Amino acid sequence: MANTISHDTAAIIGTGLTGLVQALALAQENFKVTLIGPVPSVAQDDRTTAILMPGITFLKDLGVWDDLVASSTPLTTMELIDGTHHSVFDAAEIDQMVFGYNISNAVLKKALIARLKKNKHITWHATTATTIAANDRGWDITLTSNKKISCALLIGADGRDGITRHAAQIEIDEKTIDQTALVSILKCSKPHYNTTVEWYRQGGPLTLVPMHDNKFALVWCGTSEDQRNKQSQPLTQSGKELSELTAHRFGELKVIQPFQAWSVRPMKATQLVAKNCALIGEAAHVLPPIGAQGFNTSLQDIIALTSTLLEGRSIGYLINDAIMLSRYESVRIMEVKLRYSTINTINALLLSTRGVMHHVRRAGLFGIQTIPFVKKYIMEAGIKPLNLGRTRA
Ligand SMILES: Cc1cc2nc3c(=O)[nH]c(=O)nc-3n(C[C@H](O)[C@H](O)[C@H](O)COP(=O)(O)OP(=O)(O)OC[C@H]3O[C@@H](n4cnc5c(N)ncnc54)[C@H](O)[C@@H]3O)c2cc1C
Repeated sequence: MANTISHDTAAIIGTGLTGLVQALALAQENFKVTLIGPVPSVAQDDRTTAILMPGITFLKDLGVWDDLVASSTPLTTMELIDGTHHSVFDAAEIDQMVFGYNISNAVLKKALIARLKKNKHITWHATTATTIAANDRGWDITLTSNKKISCALLIGADGRDGITRHAAQIEIDEKTIDQTALVSILKCSKPHYNTTVEWYRQGGPLTLVPMHDNKFALVWCGTSEDQRNKQSQPLTQSGKELSELTAHRFGELKVIQPFQAWSVRPMKATQLVAKNCALIGEAAHVLPPIGAQGFNTSLQDIIALTSTLLEGRSIGYLINDAIMLSRYESVRIMEVKLRYSTINTINALLLSTRGVMHHVRRAGLFGIQTIPFVKKYIMEAGIKPLNLGRTRA
C-alpha cells in the first residue's frame, strides 16, 4: 500500500542535471522533496555544458558555485561562422565580463550530489520508478524495489522518453531527423583565449567550447552514417579533419578522448502541466545542440517552477494547486515554443540537401540571414533573468 499523501511533498522523477538542480532548489526553500532516480555515474558523462549567466547566478544562489568555479572556463568571446560570414561578439557588448562558463557535467553532478545528500528535506530513492498512477489528490509511485510512495506534486525530470509524460497523458511534437552529435575533448596548438566558435556546416553545427589548459569541448554534428564512420576512424585522422574544417583557426587540433555519440531527437511537450504534475527539462523539450540552449532552457524551467511554488506557498496555496501549475505553464510555454521552433529551423537549414533551404545555403544566404539572428538570440539568453521576484520563505 502507498504511504498517505503528504500535501506538501513534491516527488521529482529523474536524476539528470535537471532533476538534481530542481531537487536542490526546492529543498533549499524548505519544501519536502522525494527524489527518485539512480545516483548518476559521473564517469559516464564526458560532456561539458556551457551555462549562460542567468544560470550561473542561479547556481551561485544554490551554493554550488564554489565547488565549480576552479574547474569552469569563462566564456568571454563568441564567434559564429558560415563560409565567408563571420560574426565575433564579446560579453562586453551585453555589459558583462563573461557570457557564462563551460562546466564539466561530471563536476557539476558531483557537486549537486554532495549537497543533496546533506540536505535534510530530501529523501532520495536511488532507483527507478516503474509505474506512476494519478489519484484525486496526487500520485502513487511504485519503485523497482516494489516500494510504493505517494506525493501531492509530481515533477517529471525524467528526460525525453520518461514515464511521467506518458502517465500524465501529455502529447509531444517531435522531429525525426538524421543527425548525430559527436562529443570529445580537443587540445589545440594555438591559444583559444576563452573563445567559443560555432561553424554552421552542411549536416549540422560544429562547436568548440573552451576548457582549461588550452583544450576545447567539441560538439560535432552530422548525419548518423557520417558520424558512425568518424567514430571508427583513428583519432589522429579526426584531428586532422577537424584542423582543416576549422581552417586551422586554433592551429592543430588533437582529439584526446574517444568520441561519444548522442543522437539528436528534438521534441517538445504540447503541455507543461497536467493535474498535480509539471514537466521540466528534457522531459518537456529537447533541442538540437545549437547555441547552448538545452540545459539553459531547463534552468529557466526550474527557476520559474521554484519561484511559482514559493510565491504560492507565501499566500497559502498547497504545493499542487492548479492555479500555480497553470501559472508555471503560462510563464514557460511560449518561450519553449519559440526556442524550439527557432533552433529547429536553423538546424533544418543545415540539414537540408535539397529544396528552398538548400538553395539558401548554396547562395551563401544562410550566414547573412541566420548569424545576426543567432547572435541576438544567444545575447538575450545570456542576460535575460527569469526570476519572477524570487523570495525566500
Ligand atoms: C551533445 C550535447 C551537448 C550539449 N551541450 C549543452 C550546452 O553546452 N549547454 C546547454 O545548456 N545544454 C547542452 N546540452 C543539453 C543538456 O545536456 C541537457 O539539457 C541536460 O543534460 C539536462 O537533461 P535532463 O536532466 O533534463 O534529462 P536527462 O539527462 O535525460 O536526465 C533524465 C534522467 O531521468 C532518469 N530517469 C528516466 N526515467 C526514470 C524513471 N522511470 N525513474 C527514475 N529515473 C528516471 C534517467 O536515468 C536520467 O538520469 C547538450 C546536449 C547534448 C546531447
